[in-house]
Amino acid sequence: MKYYNSVNLVDNLYCYIWQGMGNNCNTSVFTNILNGPKPHVIIDPGHIVNESREECFAGLEKAMAGDKIRVDDIGLIINTHSHPDHCQANELIVERSGAQVTLSKEEDDFRNTIGVSLYRAFGIKAPRFNPQFYIKEGDLDLGINGFKLNVILTPGHSPGSVCLYWAKKKVLITGDVIFFMSVGRTDFPGGDMAQLKKSIDRLAELDVEYIIPGHNTEPGGIIRGKDLIRRNFEAVQDFFSYGTG
Ligand SMILES: [Zn+2]
Repeated sequence: MKYYNSVNLVDNLYCYIWQGMGNNCNTSVFTNILNGPKPHVIIDPGHIVNESREECFAGLEKAMAGDKIRVDDIGLIINTHSHPDHCQANELIVERSGAQVTLSKEEDDFRNTIGVSLYRAFGIKAPRFNPQFYIKEGDLDLGINGFKLNVILTPGHSPGSVCLYWAKKKVLITGDVIFFMSVGRTDFPGGDMAQLKKSIDRLAELDVEYIIPGHNTEPGGIIRGKDLIRRNFEAVQDFFSYGTG
């Protein structure tokens, strides 16, 4: 079973687009951007095994191997937010490579309070990891050649969700904030529709060529091209104006 489509989107950015039946997130990997022996950065490694008993992480490792990317060479894990379908596999990567883990402080606070009881209620194992530092709004300077990601705090789907903007290549990694013709749900604890709208209004101001959403929707996965992205923002903003009554 092939669980991921691998897309070398631009330069050293690889996207792993989830193809399984059950729930899991899309994963992104920037290769060779950190100094030292573990140069890769992974964003949202996803589930280990999901509710449909699909071996998500084994599938991810296999897909990455196809691009000659080794889990053992990951030096940093960034989580857009703390829902288990985005960060359950953190612990396996840490075990294998000793990677550092980061997310926003707001999200880590949520994870350690409301998150714990939420997962317990759903019978889901709470993700286990210890962040070494927190990312916050602004530039995140990573390693070699001045590689930089812009961190944008975008609460709404969860209290400390972040989006990552690679300005040089106009790539926006959105986690569960915005999808193709859809947005992240806000009916879980920690969700807030008004905040989500504000967050999306901020993202709509950016100059973007590619959106990598946290999940695929019926119309599609990666959103490509300025025109389509502008129309996607407009459609989603219309939904907030008219679709919620
Ligand atoms: Zn989520």
